[in-house]
Amino acid sequence: MKEAQCSCGKLRALCEGEPAKVSICHCDACRRRTGSAFGIAAFYPRAAVRVEGERRAFTRDSDAGHAVTFHFCPDCGSTLYWEPSRKPDMIGVGIGAFADLDYPMPDQSVSDARRYGWIAFPDAMQRRE
Ligand SMILES: [Zn+2]
Ligand SMILES: [Zn+2]
Repeated sequence: MKEAQCSCGKLRALCEGEPAKVSICHCDACRRRTGSAFGIAAFYPRAAVRVEGERRAFTRDSDAGHAVTFHFCPDCGSTLYWEPSRKPDMIGVGIGAFADLDYPMPDQSVSDARRYGWIAFPDAMQRRE
């Protein structure tokens, strides 16, 4: 069991077992959501995630046009997890929220054509345009 939490700790996601997939995304919307150079999602089966605490939701379309609903803490504003309509059986959790140095390396880098030129990843990571 791994626990992810928002900045203030009031919103938490308890995740059972290993993530099905971990993806880095370089799209502009992920950058704007995080304020960082890219976003990282750990996808867990819905049944493996238990959420505790108040949250608010924001829905936007992905670059491919599929709605994604992001859930964030109303007090500190951190986005903790999200529901991609394209994968209704999965929940994405921001891996930074685990604050766990042993968390598995991402499997893939998506929207890789939008990656900042100064970011280099290990060769083992898959790239997707
Ligand atoms: Zn919070
Ligand atoms: Zn993205």
